[in-house]
Amino acid sequence: METEKQRIEELVKQLNAASAAYYNGQDEIMPNYEWDALFDELTTLEEKTGYIIKDSPTQNAGYEESGSGQKEPHEYPALSLAKTKQVEELQQWAGAYPIWLSWKLDGLTLVLTYDNGNLVKILTRGNGNLGTNITFLKGAIGGFPQKISYQGHLVVRGEAAISYTDFAQINDMIEDDDEKYANPRNLASGTLNLEDPAEVKARHVRFHAFTLVHLDEPMVSWGERMHFLEELGFDVVDREATTAQKLPEAIDRWTKLVESGKMDIPVDGLVICYDDTDYAASGSVTGHHATRAGFAFKWQDEAVDTKLKYIEWSCAVSTISPVAVFEPVQIEGTTVSRASLCNISEIERLGIGKECTLSVIKANKIIPKCIAVKDAVGAPEIPSQCPVCHAPTKVHVSENSGTKTLHCTNPDCTAKNVKKFTRFVSKWGMDIDGLSIQTMLRFMNAGFIHEFADIFRLKEHFGEISQMEGFGEKSVANMEQSIEKSRQVHPVNFIFALCIPLIGVDAGKKIVAAIGFEGFLQRLHQGDGFEDIEGIGAERSRSIVTWYQNEKNHSGFEDLLHELSIEHVEVQDTSSGSCAGLSFVITGDVHHYKNRDEFKAYVESQGGKVTGSVSKKTAYLVNNDVESASSKNRKAKELGIPIISEDTFIEQFGGR
Ligand SMILES: [Zn+2]
Repeated sequence: METEKQRIEELVKQLNAASAAYYNGQDEIMPNYEWDALFDELTTLEEKTGYIIKDSPTQNAGYEESGSGQKEPHEYPALSLAKTKQVEELQQWAGAYPIWLSWKLDGLTLVLTYDNGNLVKILTRGNGNLGTNITFLKGAIGGFPQKISYQGHLVVRGEAAISYTDFAQINDMIEDDDEKYANPRNLASGTLNLEDPAEVKARHVRFHAFTLVHLDEPMVSWGERMHFLEELGFDVVDREATTAQKLPEAIDRWTKLVESGKMDIPVDGLVICYDDTDYAASGSVTGHHATRAGFAFKWQDEAVDTKLKYIEWSCAVSTISPVAVFEPVQIEGTTVSRASLCNISEIERLGIGKECTLSVIKANKIIPKCIAVKDAVGAPEIPSQCPVCHAPTKVHVSENSGTKTLHCTNPDCTAKNVKKFTRFVSKWGMDIDGLSIQTMLRFMNAGFIHEFADIFRLKEHFGEISQMEGFGEKSVANMEQSIEKSRQVHPVNFIFALCIPLIGVDAGKKIVAAIGFEGFLQRLHQGDGFEDIEGIGAERSRSIVTWYQNEKNHSGFEDLLHELSIEHVEVQDTSSGSCAGLSFVITGDVHHYKNRDEFKAYVESQGGKVTGSVSKKTAYLVNNDVESASSKNRKAKELGIPIISEDTFIEQFGGR
């Protein structure tokens, strides 16, 4: 009983550590199947002993905890800050007090509450008095710990934001135009409205603490409070201690950092606050502002006039979107020559003509935006053909918003299939760096890429590419190197890259191990199936044959073969291996092998199979704890399947 209790405690600790790492977006420290196996073991032990610890993962099933999306009052109202565009006003406010300068992040404010070291509640800011409970998303947002070493009552406020990089990528993949987001802030708040935590998690929302609202013990210095949060494991907003006197220089420096375009987190200003939080709390409340809580600095947008050269239309996953290309102008330190016009409705709203003068700003110092139009002559031409595939276009009017957007009518348009290209260049595929979705879409719209093989012919366009905005000779040289390197490819990665429905890495491995790439090629050419290969089956086999029968896939595949050198891999003759034809289940810790994956690889190399659960087909259950009362051992005993230790396995079947 004692050893069982110990084992339960050990399992709870291991499983919780693995979940924490997973939910905090760190590297996975335990593969899923192993987690499941340990979880099963724990459930069995708990049932048997009746000993269940409060923290046990069997008692809280991941995401489905608390949180209801209900409105709730804030314990400490979250008032907004007074704003100014004048540095002098900030200096006056600071007076002789030590102050802190930090970013005003552009996302959605969240308030987190911890008790006894556990995160117990997440509320959105809402109207400052009433927020929405989104505690159920706690595992889906990064930047804060689920558990902290501090045991008292702690309330922390911060901004949940999405980076510009993720924003661009996510927006490109949203197929319904009505659901696209105007900026990272809208995306962040739209995301936190979603009900599916997995969907939220995929969008990489990150929390950045900016105020420690409450702590049981006194801690007066704002700087110390932020440092304390950092020690507890929170992401904390960047900050700098300063004074009224040094403020203009500091603001200048921070502003330049934003203007350089190197900040990937969206910011829409700066905030100053007093280091003395007692003094800060002593202010009064006027309107919606607490007079001493802090002061926000917003940048004055610098609007510059320029002449429209033309409108460039480019096709992405779902829409053909307009970009204004104008005479290059200097705005806030950088040269700007393009600004997105979003859609046809925006062109009409602004009153853009065939010729006109545009008034352009950089929203949040980053995104060029056309805000007004003067001297418009004529109406701009809406293209009748898709710039990528030349199929006819059509204007779509949204039922919800009335927004007019332009679309390509060809379902096979290369631009619509850009997701396949991302799989093609991914790590498991051809492993080519430097070809993001955005980059590939630009190359498609420039007419450089129509099929996979065109990636290997990009060289012909490197001259033009190095002239394109955002590319230089160095990035083109890197791209070339990465593409050239990828020409030599392992057959499994190549098969994965082809995007054959139902054929992933695992199926690729099985095919290559059984018949080699030469065999794969031969069967494709002859129209033979693959169902005789262990683990492929009729459905996958049919999928491959059908895929190759499609004229476009077929010719694209042959084109690729001319560009690539597929590595030769020996066919594994497993029919005479020591485990040939036998099915094993491996459970518990292994000692001789590094882990169960390595063990499994040996069994497979000897023609055997490893499955997750004991059944009539199982030949042996390998468990170093031969006498264990686990459910697998019980099942094996019931079915009369021999339970052997790793040592016995090695004696009988070799290896290690
Ligand atoms: Zn098209």
